[in-house]
Amino acid sequence: MSVPLLEVEGLHVWFDLEGGGELHAVQGVDLSLDPGERLGLVGESGCGKTTTALAILGLLPPNASVSGRVLIDGEDILAGGEAAMRPHRWVDVAIVFQGAMNALNPVRTIGQQIVESLELHGRAKGAVARTRTAELLESVGIPAGRAGRYPHELSGGMRQRAAIAMALSCNPRVLIADEPTTALDVMVQAQILELLDALCRDFGLALVLVTHDLPVVAQLCDRCAVMYAGEIVERGPLDVLYHTPGHPYTRMLFAASPDLGMGDAPVLSIPGAPPRLDRPIDGCPFRPRCDSAFAACVERPSLLEVGDGHAAACHLNTRVPA
Ligand code: SF4
Repeated sequence: MSVPLLEVEGLHVWFDLEGGGELHAVQGVDLSLDPGERLGLVGESGCGKTTTALAILGLLPPNASVSGRVLIDGEDILAGGEAAMRPHRWVDVAIVFQGAMNALNPVRTIGQQIVESLELHGRAKGAVARTRTAELLESVGIPAGRAGRYPHELSGGMRQRAAIAMALSCNPRVLIADEPTTALDVMVQAQILELLDALCRDFGLALVLVTHDLPVVAQLCDRCAVMYAGEIVERGPLDVLYHTPGHPYTRMLFAASPDLGMGDAPVLSIPGAPPRLDRPIDGCPFRPRCDSAFAACVERPSLLEVGDGHAAACHLNTRVPA
């Protein structure tokens, strides 16, 4: 059996809180990704998506504690700390951070930033690095002549393209894109999604698309993992989750998305809010918001296979019909 390109096993992340106590932000996440595969990681804000992405790259702040395994080609890069992680970060797995303006250095031109990235990782230097920078910018649709522009001189869409070019500078095999279209207008959003689609196709990139926006996932991804309260509560092929969701949260997320061709069905909101993660959770974390809760839901459900490549964490899947 072939080894996945990227595998995450039993990932937990805790944050120490200033006033004491801790917040259990990621609670036993398992993921795997094969070369060229595209996975959407979806859920509401605060459900642990971005924290999972940053943990994979060892980019969490000092008040975070992490356990679990992150494997590249079967090698655990989390176990060896920063020394083991550094050769793989940007080189095997790169990230486009949420909000390009925050990710780019405002006092360096976009060209300088890409050249620096190439030089820092020993990919190229001097004139070769500048030529490679021009190629990278062209590959994301930025004319090479704009390499001398500062981030504030570019539109939001161009800044996002520059951030993607920088993430691609070491030819990674996996690109994690964290909310890549947030804060962009609809036309620019479509252009960025087309760009990501073309880059995955042309360079054989595997993609982890982190978003709260299911229509964005529907445009780009083959598979989807739904996070709620720090856990993956459902994962599987996107069309299976859409047509036969195994978790009420997934069903309600789709029903709350306006652009997914749900016919004339009204767009519904999900009542309530996700639970606080700085307190213990009794039973199923979705129970206070679930329209299908029943007696067994006082016990926390496990993520179980419910079909071919399809798993869900909901007692409805194992309930014996009356
Ligand atoms: Fe709803 Fe129960 Fe399933 Fe949780 S386990 S999602 S409360 S039906």
